[in-house]
Amino acid sequence: MNRQGRPTGPSVSTGDTAGATWTGNKALALDEKLLFELDGWGRTGVDLPDDGLDADCLGGLNRNKPIGLPGLSEPQAVRHYTRLSRKNYAIDMGLFPLGSCTMKHNPRLNEKIAGLAGFADIHPLQPVSTVQGALEVMEQLAYWLTTLTGMPGVALSPKAGAHGELCGLMVIRAALEARGDARSRVLVPESAHGTNPATAALCGYTVDSIPATPAGRVDVDAMVAKLGPDVAALMLTNPNTCGLFESDIIEIAEKVHAAGAFFYCDGANFNAIVGKVRPGDLGIDAMHINLHKTFSTPHGGGGPGAGPVVFSDALMPFIPPAYVVREGLDLRLVEDVPHAQVGRMTAFHGQMGMFVRALTYMLSHGGDGLRQVAEDAVLNANYIRESLKDVMTPSFDGPCMHEALFDDRFLKDTGVSTLDFAKALIDEGYHPMTMYFPLVVHGAMLVEPTETESKESLDDFIGAMRSLALAAKAGDTERFASAPRFAPVGRLDETRAARTPILTWQEPEPKAAAE
Ligand SMILES: *Cc1c(COP(=O)(O)O)cnc(C)c1O
Repeated sequence: MNRQGRPTGPSVSTGDTAGATWTGNKALALDEKLLFELDGWGRTGVDLPDDGLDADCLGGLNRNKPIGLPGLSEPQAVRHYTRLSRKNYAIDMGLFPLGSCTMKHNPRLNEKIAGLAGFADIHPLQPVSTVQGALEVMEQLAYWLTTLTGMPGVALSPKAGAHGELCGLMVIRAALEARGDARSRVLVPESAHGTNPATAALCGYTVDSIPATPAGRVDVDAMVAKLGPDVAALMLTNPNTCGLFESDIIEIAEKVHAAGAFFYCDGANFNAIVGKVRPGDLGIDAMHINLHKTFSTPHGGGGPGAGPVVFSDALMPFIPPAYVVREGLDLRLVEDVPHAQVGRMTAFHGQMGMFVRALTYMLSHGGDGLRQVAEDAVLNANYIRESLKDVMTPSFDGPCMHEALFDDRFLKDTGVSTLDFAKALIDEGYHPMTMYFPLVVHGAMLVEPTETESKESLDDFIGAMRSLALAAKAGDTERFASAPRFAPVGRLDETRAARTPILTWQEPEPKAAAE
């Protein structure tokens, strides 16, 4: 047990108790308890008046039992979260190869602009005349998104890619219902991100999956066989989650339209084609764009996302509010459209802070710079693919787009699995790549470096991957079996953690909290 009452040993991943410290800390690697174990019952970070608290706490809600949150002083709270953050990996620490996630650098210029008082300190209920600058940002962002995609309309408010998918399918359903043609089925390729079938199911559609060809693309014949008068939409990702461009996309769009269905594109991978291809020219009717991927706003643990959806002419009449319209020199926000088939997707206007960051990224790159984003992202992924193809097994022949897909054939007979390989990468100081996705190849490892990595950082990463691949082939199972060996927490039994979580915190005796 260490000073903070937690057992050391198993939680110290080297298992090296001979070198254990009294605190449980290892120099700068500090042990940290749960917030609830910090023993702050009855303590507060601020001085509150003694009287009237019980009757009038938490916005007038009367409490009849302790709220169940420990009290902490400000330094305690700051240290707790800072210590936890130091156990974590972050894009500001190093390359984040997570495929299908576009973990690129978030330029500090974005943060500086988003922090300006005219953006950071405004409120959505402020009079419109006082927030004309913010509305101008929304209008400009809409202009860039519609120009880059070649699609006439955009709904800015959805708050993530998955929320954008929901918006897109709701709009498609509204358009179908408006023509008296409610349909029941949505086609989704088997390589799709899990959010696609989930969205279709949430909208009440039956999900019908389309197989992939051996070349990792949608099997067009299989898709055509599944098209019918009950199909509302096809949801396709392009470039797809194998990191490949769907080369039959024009034909796919024509077939889908001929069947009276709409063509939804999952635009999460827009990073690979921005400035090179306009989705509107490919026959797409609706596509969400993850500002937190393509346009560099923070995501993951780092911040909220934003998933605007662009629409074709056919779907324009059904775009949900809120949106900005220009009247002379003034900008106005349309918040409610009477009798709209699709109501608003969010309480206010969307993730304003992300709009500012994304527009900053666009303006600082310009049109030619955004084209270079796509070119460099694709170049970096192919550099990794080519540099590793002699020791790992790329799943498909030929160049990839923005992410390189490997499978586990190179680990055959080594006793090392994709999971072991990913865990050993943690010991090398990297967040693992995406593993076991997409499902169309065995033991997938999907690597997306993004355009913001230098050749030096790619070479370091390639060096780590090569060394692991060679170690696996050389039978150095030591490096994999107990990996991660050097992380703050060793290999977890993930199944047990999910099935029998140990929730150590117990609500304290009311007496203790009332002291
Ligand atoms: C990230 C991603 C999504 C979901 O986006 P969120 O913003 O996480 O909701 C959907 N599809 C693909 C292909 C993605 O990469």
